[in-house]
Amino acid sequence: MVWSSGRRPFVILVVLQALSAVALGLQVLAVQWVLSAVLAADERADFEGAVAPVLLLAGLTAFTAVAGALQGQLQRFLGELVARRMWTRVLRVATGVDLAHFESPEFYDHLNRVQTNAVTRPYQVTQGLLSMAGAAVASVGLGLALASVSPVLLALVVVGGIPLLVTSRRESRLEFDFSVGQTPVLRQRSYLALLQTGREEAKEVRAFGLGEWLRSRFDAIYDSYLHALRRHAVRRTILSVLGQLGSALVLGGTLLFLVWLISRGAIGVAGAGAAIIAIRMLASQVQGLFRGVQQIFESGLFLDDLDAFLDLGVPALEQTRGSEAPTSFDTIRVEDVRFAYPGSTAEALCGVDLELRAGEIVALVGENGSGKTTLAKLLAGLYQPAAGRITWDGADISGFRPASLRDQVSVTFQDFVRYAFTGTENIAVGRVELPASPERVRASARAAGAESVLDALPEGFETLLSRLFVGGIDLSGGQWQRVALARSFFRDAPLVILDEPSSALDPRAEHALFSTLREVLDGRTALFISHRFSTVRGADRIIVLDSGTVAEQGTHAELVAADGLYADLYKLQSHTDIAGAGAGAGAVTGTTGNPADG
Ligand code: ADP
Repeated sequence: MVWSSGRRPFVILVVLQALSAVALGLQVLAVQWVLSAVLAADERADFEGAVAPVLLLAGLTAFTAVAGALQGQLQRFLGELVARRMWTRVLRVATGVDLAHFESPEFYDHLNRVQTNAVTRPYQVTQGLLSMAGAAVASVGLGLALASVSPVLLALVVVGGIPLLVTSRRESRLEFDFSVGQTPVLRQRSYLALLQTGREEAKEVRAFGLGEWLRSRFDAIYDSYLHALRRHAVRRTILSVLGQLGSALVLGGTLLFLVWLISRGAIGVAGAGAAIIAIRMLASQVQGLFRGVQQIFESGLFLDDLDAFLDLGVPALEQTRGSEAPTSFDTIRVEDVRFAYPGSTAEALCGVDLELRAGEIVALVGENGSGKTTLAKLLAGLYQPAAGRITWDGADISGFRPASLRDQVSVTFQDFVRYAFTGTENIAVGRVELPASPERVRASARAAGAESVLDALPEGFETLLSRLFVGGIDLSGGQWQRVALARSFFRDAPLVILDEPSSALDPRAEHALFSTLREVLDGRTALFISHRFSTVRGADRIIVLDSGTVAEQGTHAELVAADGLYADLYKLQSHTDIAGAGAGAGAVTGTTGNPADG
């Protein structure tokens, strides 16, 4: 990862690390040289011989400092290069995985951990390796220097690192378990923070006076996190103190052994001075070495986690298989289709049969929760039926490459996305492969009734449609709906699915939309979901869903005559309209416009 992200900074870092390690070993020799020179000078009162070794020592020290500073900045930059690459991979998986993952809290936990942790970890492994390699090279130099004084000293210093190695492995495990355990809590905390900082939420939070209440929930969550963190920190500290104490004890023993050696006259004063420095330096190098091991181990745990996440993207790669969906059709058939959302036992669709013929405008009606949106998602290839099949001219759509099927469908959901992009971009995202030519964008906007809305903005179609960024402006709900419709028309697919396309439109806009819909569709097939009978009645065919199955279908007149569920809903709405009109000024009762008059 690191190699492919930033070859040059990586190589420079390795070289610097190696040079620093060598410089460290040379420092010990320089000290010994200085001490020898000083001791010799003492006898002859001539310090000239000490100048060269002192200069060498100063030079080496300066080099180490400069290299350290350079390494710091290089590591920072390389870290970002790796993080960028990891981000790309993680985002590719996040946008490519099956939609079903977004129904699972565990997926969000995983994603959250990957975002907050794993993106920096690959680099930390490298950093661990680099510092390990550096420490290893330095240790060899220092070790040789020390072994020349006494091999036992060298063995003791190495043994001194072992307690740290043992406890730090345990610490890594603790850290990973803590991170996994706290992810749901941290996500709750982020969610509560979002409620208090989000633009969408701001008005309701104020209108309902939720600020204080949300804050207390936020505090409670934070408290529970802090409580867990305190326990975790105490456990980590105990482990780390134990490790350090163990190492310090061995180091103390090593120094005592050195004193004993000196007292017995086994080594001279210059040798002893160099040995003390070498022991001190070597001890910290050995510690660094083992810290590197710990860093690799700890990051490794998070990297396994990251790998598992990236593996979620593998099925997405498999989705590149399958035949290409045709660019047109005569008949789409839904045959005994059943579907339950992941993690849910209740079936949202339990045996749906229907047919869409090319060029038809079909309305899908039914009460809340009857499965209309779910059916739209299946038709758009966003979910696969659990049983039954959907065919395009007899070919099962499960055999098509999913992306190629989605290419042939234009679906606009009720909760379409309001991108903080310009008006043009908000329409052209309907098909990003196509150049956003002003004529095409404008034609789509015109068909959806969004042209005049966008033209009236300060910078016309190029106005940023969001208050999030400087110079942006927001639209009303109905105006946004027209932009979303324009996006759908821009997509230019043979099957157009519109989920409540006119729920936020005023009557005039709605009328304009449906009176021109056939012309705009220009032979394309449309399936629209609506609760408004004023729009539904104009459809070629109406399909009524009830509790996940098709209850009845036919034209408006046929269904009213059949006196079933549709007729019931229709009468109810007519009744509500009449009652509503009656409750207002009596003078308007009986004006045209309620569906009953039709
Ligand atoms: P409609 O569009 O007709 O109002 P939906 O298709 O949205 O109905 O929902 C059909 C059923 O599926 C409902 O019972 C609803 O509770 C359930 N449902 C919808 N979305 C999900 C989901 N993401 N996870 C689980 N159940 C869902």
